[in-house]
Amino acid sequence: MTIVNARTIDDALAALAERPDSLLLQGGTDSMVQMNFGRLDPRAVVSLRGIRELREWRALPDGSTFIGSGLPYASMEKGGLAARLPALAEAARTVGSPQIRAAGTLGGNLGTASPAGDGLPVLRALDATVHLRSATSSRDVPVAEFLVGVKRTLRAPGELIVGVTVPPAPGWQGYAKVGVRNAMVIAIASACLARDGSAVRLALGAVAPTVVRCPAAERAAAAMLAGGRRPSRDDAREFGRIASSECSPISDHRSTAAYRTHAVAVVAARLLERSFHG
Ligand SMILES: Cc1cc2nc3c(=O)[nH]c(=O)nc-3n(C[C@H](O)[C@H](O)[C@H](O)COP(=O)(O)OP(=O)(O)OC[C@H]3O[C@@H](n4cnc5c(N)ncnc54)[C@H](O)[C@@H]3O)c2cc1C
Repeated sequence: MTIVNARTIDDALAALAERPDSLLLQGGTDSMVQMNFGRLDPRAVVSLRGIRELREWRALPDGSTFIGSGLPYASMEKGGLAARLPALAEAARTVGSPQIRAAGTLGGNLGTASPAGDGLPVLRALDATVHLRSATSSRDVPVAEFLVGVKRTLRAPGELIVGVTVPPAPGWQGYAKVGVRNAMVIAIASACLARDGSAVRLALGAVAPTVVRCPAAERAAAAMLAGGRRPSRDDAREFGRIASSECSPISDHRSTAAYRTHAVAVVAARLLERSFHG
């Protein structure tokens, strides 16, 4: 196995151009597990951990937020980034253990593209854009297009995820996750809701081959909340019911499709209510 310890994005892209089949290693919290189980046996590795420019976030002049693909979850949990994107902070706090949050990153969450990745519903609800670069080109892809299926993305060999940009997100935003325990758990259903007045955006995780938005529930919410109305308990339940009709969960070792459907209805309804009560 050859290993390149990249110090800059350009270093990494040059190594990747030479060996487009290289495994990109960021926190390693997904990849090392796969290697330990013998499911992954890369011949070439490009380690990204030494690239400082990937581990940064910044507020952009238009109010949007750039997050480097190598920024660990621990840096999203509190501070300036958490104040700008509270749903991302909530999602980050639910990831694994402190050790996993010190190493794991959004770049890795996107690279793995598990339907249960905790960062992904947030990026999907907030209409984030993924920035990709290769040695010869760069492109920006909406996260909705980037995630194409279970563990499948639009990333081409030779491309590196540099980071994501989240557009300005005024109003309330929150994240909720259901698992078999309160900590160290992969979601069996998750949701991110962002609300600005009557405009509601809802994305669900772990209940379809990839993260999904809920256009029918979003339209129903706009009608329920028109004219500054607050949702009644029945409104919230109806919103949750519609959201649960927009996913396609499976039964697996973590849960059943029926429970996932129920869980989605509950978390979507609660998030809508929470958006009015803080
Ligand atoms: C004990 C444990 C608990 C966990 N709990 C959770 C949890 O609660 N929620 C959750 O969502 N996940 C969880 N995970 C999974 C994992 O921590 C996350 O998916 C994390 O975001 C992966 O980030 P990483 O930097 O470690 O990725 P890595 O393992 O380094 O990489 C993962 C994949 O992404 C690719 N990749 C990484 N960076 C880039 C880049 N810049 N450009 C292109 N491709 C890239 C890699 O090549 C690889 O295919 C857990 C894992 C463990 C071991």
